[in-house]
Amino acid sequence: MTTRHVIPATLWKAAREHLKLDQATRDHLASCAECTTLWAAIRQFPQAQTARLDHAPSAWIERAVAVARGKSVVGRLTKLVARLQFDSWASPAPVVLRSGSGRPARRLGWQADTWSLDLRIEDTPEGWSCTAQVLESGRAQSGIEIRSGAMKTLTDDAGLATWTSARPPRILHATLGAHAAQFGPLSWQPPKSS
Ligand SMILES: [Zn+2]
Repeated sequence: MTTRHVIPATLWKAAREHLKLDQATRDHLASCAECTTLWAAIRQFPQAQTARLDHAPSAWIERAVAVARGKSVVGRLTKLVARLQFDSWASPAPVVLRSGSGRPARRLGWQADTWSLDLRIEDTPEGWSCTAQVLESGRAQSGIEIRSGAMKTLTDDAGLATWTSARPPRILHATLGAHAAQFGPLSWQPPKSS
C-alpha cells in the first residue's frame, strides 16, 4: 500500500473547479479511508477554504513579516510567505483521522507562490511521525531541504520527506529554490468538537 497520500491542495482545487480526479488519485482514494474522508469533507465545503480559515493565515502572515524583519539565517534568500490552505483540525466538518494510538492525525496544506507543502502528522508509539511533500507548479520537487527544530532532511524523488520527532512540529522551514519559507507556527490545542 502506498503512503503517498493525496495532497489537500489537489483536492481543494478539484472541488472548487469541479475537476475530475485523475486515475492515480481515484486509485489511492479507493484504498485509503483517510484521504476518502478528507475528500468527502472538502467536497461538502467548497467555500470553506477562505471562509473559515481566515484567522489562521493572517496570524501566520504577521508572524512571517516579523521574522522577515529580523536577521536572516539564510542570508540572501528571498522570504516567501506561505498561506495555510488547509488544516484538517480547522475543517468545518471535523476530519478526525484516527491513528493507531488514538489521537487524531493532522493534515495541513500550505501554498507559497507556485510552491505547495503538504504535511501529515501522526502520533505513533515511536513519536510524532511526519511526512512532508513539496510540489512546485504541481510537480514533485526532490532535494528540498526541510528543517524542524534540530531536524534537517531532504525531499526524495516523490517530493517526500519523512521524520519522527519526540514532540509535534511547531515550525517548519524550507528552502524553496531561491526562497526561504516558514510554515507555522502550529498550535497543538486539540481540535474543537463543533
Ligand atoms: Zn491517503
